[in-house]
Amino acid sequence: MSALDDLYQELILDHYRNRRHEGVLERPSVAVDHNNPLCGDQIHLELLIEDGRIAEVGHTGEGCSISQSSASMMSEVLAGRPLDEALDLVEHFRLVMHGDEQADEDRLGDAVALEGVAKYPVRIKCALLSWMAAKDAMLNHNTHE
Ligand code: ZN
Repeated sequence: MSALDDLYQELILDHYRNRRHEGVLERPSVAVDHNNPLCGDQIHLELLIEDGRIAEVGHTGEGCSISQSSASMMSEVLAGRPLDEALDLVEHFRLVMHGDEQADEDRLGDAVALEGVAKYPVRIKCALLSWMAAKDAMLNHNTHE
């Protein structure tokens, strides 16, 4: 493994052990549950959306280290973003996971550490779970506005 792989491995473990934005919100605008039966990963995701932006993110769940650390990284990256920007970011991450785009560290923050997961097709769904939940939550919210 290269030094960069080691660093990324550390980041993934750090987010897995110490999840950012873990928990539920007091007054979420929208809540969704997604799961990945292939691996047994689950996520419950809540967003507080105010003035067209993600004011707060909360998540709970269980599953493998990839799925749970990804939820933590996703929450950190999306919190505070306008919805259109957040949706663009989710799309960028999806394309990175499918090997169609190079990860942009400036946009993805710590989630850049998950880029290597694209090499392991069975784990891609683990990494994408929380991001697809976020997209679902944002689109759900938009249709109810
Ligand atoms: Zn998994």
